[in-house]
Amino acid sequence: MISEYIKCVTDEGIEECISRVYDRVTKLEPKLHAFITLVDKDTVINNAKQVRSRKLMGLPVAVKDNISTKGIRTTCGSRMLSEYVPVYDATVIERLASKGATILGKTNMDEFAMGSTTETSFFGPSRNPWDLTRVPGGSSGGSGVAIASKMVEIALGSDTGGSIRAPASFNGVYGLKPSYGTVSRYGLVAYANSLEQIGPMARNASDLKILFSIISGFDIKDATTVSFDKKDDVDIKLNGFRIGILKDIMDRSSPEVQNVMSSFIEKLSSEGALIEEVQLGYIDYILPAYYIIAMSEASSNLARFDGVRYGYGRYKEGTWIQTFSANRAEGFGSEVKKRILLGSFILSAGYYDEYYIKALKIRKLVKESVDNILKSHDVILSPTMPILPPKLGDVIDDPLKMYAMDLNTVVANLTGIPAVSVPVGFYQGLPVGAQFMGKYLNDFFLLNLVSEVEKITKMAELTPSI
Ligand code: GLN
Repeated sequence: MISEYIKCVTDEGIEECISRVYDRVTKLEPKLHAFITLVDKDTVINNAKQVRSRKLMGLPVAVKDNISTKGIRTTCGSRMLSEYVPVYDATVIERLASKGATILGKTNMDEFAMGSTTETSFFGPSRNPWDLTRVPGGSSGGSGVAIASKMVEIALGSDTGGSIRAPASFNGVYGLKPSYGTVSRYGLVAYANSLEQIGPMARNASDLKILFSIISGFDIKDATTVSFDKKDDVDIKLNGFRIGILKDIMDRSSPEVQNVMSSFIEKLSSEGALIEEVQLGYIDYILPAYYIIAMSEASSNLARFDGVRYGYGRYKEGTWIQTFSANRAEGFGSEVKKRILLGSFILSAGYYDEYYIKALKIRKLVKESVDNILKSHDVILSPTMPILPPKLGDVIDDPLKMYAMDLNTVVANLTGIPAVSVPVGFYQGLPVGAQFMGKYLNDFFLLNLVSEVEKITKMAELTPSI
């Protein structure tokens, strides 16, 4: 918990508390591989001392490696950017620093955030601290692992189609995909702009809320940010709370996940929550729509990486086509290349109407369906992930299996609404997360609900035995 670090600094001083963090990282990192880059201990201690008078007193945080950090390598999990050191900080980093946070390191991720397991990282996969033979989810897998293994208290992830919530669920921690426009994307290396948000991850509801309060809010540098009321005093009572359960999504989840969800739903009902089954609809079209939009945007965003201006630039000879092609052929991994090719194909003349425009239509229909359910329900509930964390290697070679893992999470990205993953139980030692989706800009409402849920699940500060 953040408060424990603050107590530690008050009682024992920054040097002692940060050294302890390093002891833990040194012990666990070889097993888990949560980080791509760790800042060295003396630098972190010095940086922390400089901000010690601020609220977070130098608290070390883990930051996903697609968020720009001045002077600290930012690789996006790719060979393409393996030596790229940004000259500026993302807005979220500036905001964290202004409250007294210090960067401990940059966390492992699927290459350019494309994946659900952290296995597409150029730097090799991270491992799930609850079972080292399993994946930690992705793409913000390193951030999930760093929190779950108690290396850090809080971490930043990014979520284009579930990348905060998947690792939150698989690691037994909390993660919020904020409403679109509440957190600045300035300094986030873009994958699919219309879908993604940076968001908080933590081991308990209260830290999750603190981190969201710090990073959110209008930013002049990101025209898609909105001003919104950060009022935090919404009182939530589970008694009489109206929850719609997505029946069609529940039905597609594995029996293990359904089993844990059913006991959680019973707990909610015994607190007086009013639970009703609802249908989302369009189930067979949601993933195709998401992947068509995500790949289209990705193909355009990733065009900037040519190894000439920056990035992997081994080849300098020949025509520009020869040079760019040679650098991109070696700089990108296969998942990224596949998406650039498919995205370019989808957007080409003749196919654009067939695919891209149809996907936008589905996006609109899904939004109407969600808005409709939220007219008569306070929140929408489903499992965060349809399956338990798979073994390393199990889904990575089967794209359809891998993409199918995102069915429950992409809905919130397509529609822009907030969604949070909360740990609600275990199945044979593996954590299971539930996802609550709320009305647009009702992020604090959702976070206050999470605090109430945490009281009944008693699943804060879970500790895997590694
Ligand atoms: N797994 C999804 C994808 O590969 C979501 C990734 C993300 O949220 N960045 O697109």
